[in-house]
Amino acid sequence: QAKSAGRNTLRFFDPLMQAEINARTRLEAELHQALEQGEFSLYYQPQIHHGQPCRSVEALLRWHSPQHGLMLPAAFIALAEQSNLILAIDHWVLQQACIQLAEWAKNPATAGLSIAVNVSARQFHQADFVSRVSALLRESGANPTLLKLEITESLLLMKLRDAACKMNSLRAMGITFALDDFGTGYSSLSYLKQLPLDQVKIDRSFVRDVLENSNDAAICKAVIALGQSLGLAVIAEGVETSGQYDFMVAQGCLAVQGFLFSKAMPASQLPGWLSQAQPHGMAENAAAG
Ligand code: C2E
Ligand code: MG
Ligand code: MG
Ligand code: MG
Repeated sequence: QAKSAGRNTLRFFDPLMQAEINARTRLEAELHQALEQGEFSLYYQPQIHHGQPCRSVEALLRWHSPQHGLMLPAAFIALAEQSNLILAIDHWVLQQACIQLAEWAKNPATAGLSIAVNVSARQFHQADFVSRVSALLRESGANPTLLKLEITESLLLMKLRDAACKMNSLRAMGITFALDDFGTGYSSLSYLKQLPLDQVKIDRSFVRDVLENSNDAAICKAVIALGQSLGLAVIAEGVETSGQYDFMVAQGCLAVQGFLFSKAMPASQLPGWLSQAQPHGMAENAAAG
């Protein structure tokens, strides 16, 4: 709102706005502290491949704040992204995911499980992003073929060449790529063709009403068909009901992620979840989540 008023507008002191600035400044300080005090953790949401045992998870950041309790990324990622704080946070996330991969590799119950990590634009556009990732892989001993990076369309805006170049270097190490939240950004189908992607993720906003809204159904079908014709895997996020799941499977989208099967959970709970999960990704074991 302040922005729309324009730069040269004379403003009176606004206590509400000042309160908001104070709150943001405080949150930023708390986030710095969170990194130092080890208040962040990664939760893992299983990805379900129809008819197969679970073999991949998405890492989702959680903040155990002494002041606010369990905080979801929506409450703090946007603020962190406005400063270099996101670089430190995302570096920690990637490091933690690599360490987790190496640890899971040692346990027969979790060996071979891959992790998808969300990458922010600022992190990806760092000049030394490729060497940072390779250093984290080396230091942890993680298998690069089990690391997937989730990027978004907005990250690709403008710097398409640079992005493709970085992606190719990372791919040469064995890392794979998913295009997250597909359809919500400034989509250009040419991205899909120009970039070395492995997977597109249908955004939750199209999945939510897929059974009731024929536009959403058409979008989901189109993305699935597009993925198939370009040789990209397609995964639907935010599947909450067996009706939505049946729709996806019927359309040929055999990979899904959503509360129907499981929410994201701490790493410690994952072996237990894996051992009781049905290999067919059936809905019966999901309702508890
Ligand atoms: P995303 O990458 O699209 O992640 C999917 C989000 O949808 C997660 O929310 C997940 O918990 C939620 N979700 C999954 N299945 C369902 C479902 O069936 N129903 C509903 N209602 N929600 C579902 P979360 O963990 O709150 O993360 C939100 C966003 O924050 C992520 O969206 C991602 O953009 C960002 N994020 C999460 N972790 C990280 C991180 O480590 N680094 C960065 N840079 N961003 C992150
Ligand atoms: Mg994601
Ligand atoms: Mg997503
Ligand atoms: Mg999304």
